[in-house]
Amino acid sequence: MKIRIAKKKFFKIFAILLTILILPVLILFLVVIGRTFTFNLNTELEQWENTTTFNPHLNQEQKERLLANFKDAIQLPTVSFSETQQNISALYEFDLLLRRVFPKVFSSNLVQHETISNYTHLFSVWGSEPDLEPYMLLAHIDVVPADEADGWDAPPFSAQELNGFIYGRGTIDNKQSVMGILQALEYLLERGYTPRRSFYIGLGHDEEVTGMQGAVNIVKLLKSRGVKLLYVLDEGLTIMDGMIDGLDGPAALIGVSEKGQATVKLSVNAAPGHSSMPPRETSIGILASAVRRQETLIFKIKMIILKLEKKRMPNLFGRGPERATFEHLAHKFGLPHRMVMANLWLFSSLLSGILEGQPDTNAFVRTTTAVTMFNSGVKINVLPPYAEAFVNFRIHSSQTVQEVLKLIESTISDKRVAVELMKGFDPLPVSSYDEHTFGYQIIKKTAKDIFPQVTVTPGICIGNTDSRHYTELSLNIYRFAPSWYKPGDSARFHGVNERIGIQNYEEIVLFYFQLIQNGDTRNLPLPHS
Ligand SMILES: [Zn+2]
Repeated sequence: MKIRIAKKKFFKIFAILLTILILPVLILFLVVIGRTFTFNLNTELEQWENTTTFNPHLNQEQKERLLANFKDAIQLPTVSFSETQQNISALYEFDLLLRRVFPKVFSSNLVQHETISNYTHLFSVWGSEPDLEPYMLLAHIDVVPADEADGWDAPPFSAQELNGFIYGRGTIDNKQSVMGILQALEYLLERGYTPRRSFYIGLGHDEEVTGMQGAVNIVKLLKSRGVKLLYVLDEGLTIMDGMIDGLDGPAALIGVSEKGQATVKLSVNAAPGHSSMPPRETSIGILASAVRRQETLIFKIKMIILKLEKKRMPNLFGRGPERATFEHLAHKFGLPHRMVMANLWLFSSLLSGILEGQPDTNAFVRTTTAVTMFNSGVKINVLPPYAEAFVNFRIHSSQTVQEVLKLIESTISDKRVAVELMKGFDPLPVSSYDEHTFGYQIIKKTAKDIFPQVTVTPGICIGNTDSRHYTELSLNIYRFAPSWYKPGDSARFHGVNERIGIQNYEEIVLFYFQLIQNGDTRNLPLPHS
């Protein structure tokens, strides 16, 4: 009898303990599963005001014309070699091309055209309701150099058609936007369109070499006129198709920020010359001493580089907009990815660990460190008096240039190594992307109007654009052009075989055609309850 009671008690205690242990796990499991099947951050807005006067549609003659214009633009080698060296005659020819192929844009009394720093273009398009705050579309005319010998399938300034694609430098960076925006405006003006909301178009000629002549001077001019912009749309992110593991369907990523940059010089000085060598020292002694000293100097800076590369900058996943990118796509992932994306409160470190495994995704989670130059030695028979290395950092949204410099100094922790900031700027502010943000919602709606199959999500630009100069004119800056990127296509950007699908270019014209009309919306509709 006694034993039985003891046994009963034991089972009771065991059951309680088991419940205490299992219950939280069960609750956790239910929460994770519940969120997996219900989590959806993509709020749809209710009834939109219909502002589409002209349906986005192209007839055969228009399709042929826009393609011919685009090819003409690609064939002009508007190359930026450096801040001081650009192909000026091609930029001049480009100006003539725009005037020739977009006669309505250049003659309409709704449009005011100005050239800035000789080759940058500013268009002001006057709306019928001046109380509506204007917005601005940006793109750039210049391109990076391209050499056919690097392995192009068609010469880089030929605009040759191959398998439904136009090949050429500038086809995705960024003449598709330059020509797409003006072509859309040309078609709208041809049909007698008058915008309600005024807008500006800024086409820079030196974006690839900092934008100090083009974008910076447009901003100065607009600022002097007291212009404030409702939003700015520049190049940047694209439509990703089959590029995110486990995602069902394509995703349109709208850049809401850009990483910052810092170029840092590390250097070490040594005492110069042979004067310390005693005269009776043998040649072997001199040589031995030289080798040792040379090794010390170069070795020192090499060790520092290794230290910087090995002890990477911290993983900051979740402190910038990169987390929102995955959360807005969560409902479009298949299992098991969906469970992770819908529950980043629990699986954030799992995802950030996976992301840091590949160089292209690692760039999203931290400030990256790239040693780009290393110099030492002046002559084969002279001791190097000096060694230096240049390191390029791309700064995560949650850090500043100053914070990165402090981290570099604490990693090196050696007073003999000089750390000098050559140039740099902080990451760009994160533009809002909620349901009350006009610019983001107009871009999102337009992307859905033209590409109903895409899921729209905020993203972060790893590279920089002209739009970084516009922060004084607007808080809401977005970076997106609807070029389709499939696996392998990102290597074409600034690389060989840059190309765009013919159909994709038509879609880009239609995107801007619709975007301009959607911009006439007076107020955003309310979020769907
Ligand atoms: Zn570009």
